[in-house]
Amino acid sequence: MRIEYLTSTAGFHGRSMNLTTYLVNETIAIDAGVLGLWSEPRQQARVHDIILTHSHLDHVGTLPMFLDNVFLYRHAPVRVHATIQTQASLDQYVFKKETWAPLTTLLATQPPMLELVLIEPGTSFRVGNINVEPVLVDHSIECLGLLLTDEDGTVAISSDTGPTELFWKRCAAVDRLQAVYLECSFPSQMHDLAMMTCHLTPTLFAREMAKLDRTTRWFAMHLKPAVHREVAQELASMNVEVVEPGHVYDFGGR
Ligand SMILES: [Zn+2]
Ligand SMILES: [Zn+2]
Repeated sequence: MRIEYLTSTAGFHGRSMNLTTYLVNETIAIDAGVLGLWSEPRQQARVHDIILTHSHLDHVGTLPMFLDNVFLYRHAPVRVHATIQTQASLDQYVFKKETWAPLTTLLATQPPMLELVLIEPGTSFRVGNINVEPVLVDHSIECLGLLLTDEDGTVAISSDTGPTELFWKRCAAVDRLQAVYLECSFPSQMHDLAMMTCHLTPTLFAREMAKLDRTTRWFAMHLKPAVHREVAQELASMNVEVVEPGHVYDFGGR
């Protein structure tokens, strides 16, 4: 499995990761925070499935532009996987006629610009050769962590979360855990703000690591740009790698 966390900066290659999109094997996206601004539309059109973790704008904000960019290049709808709650939020707040074409219009084109695929938390589904297990995490709204498994092993991605439990139980149960991507938005001195907004700091990150108590490769992501250096310095002594946006991490092969 190859995973790239796209940089949030358009036009130059920065370290910013406040907008979230992961590319998996170049053709599957997790979240669409920056997907519609990435690369050329022709390359965007290779993405055939998008898995949405929750409806916050830094995770879905460029979905309208992405669909608009790619539909003339594609011969089949993009499959957008989301829970019923996230689908309702897209309908109510994102694809609203005052801000963009409504979903009913996008679904009525030939071929449709997208196909909405329902995610039931806890029920695994397949995208290509990857088994996806969606697990509820603890954020300010409903949000999914994802366990992605192929023939080589499992990579777990928390999405946005504060201190959580179920996600670690599911990570503990997998056979070969290759890596965990866990968010770390704020420095430890901003503990109250992190707890209020259901995010993590390095101190809280360490407590989550202890819950799993399993050797794996740990990545921190979603660091707020203004505190990136401070958070990275705190993480440096914890055996945690800060994700390098734009770098392709290859977990293939045993
Ligand atoms: Zn969020
Ligand atoms: Zn976020």
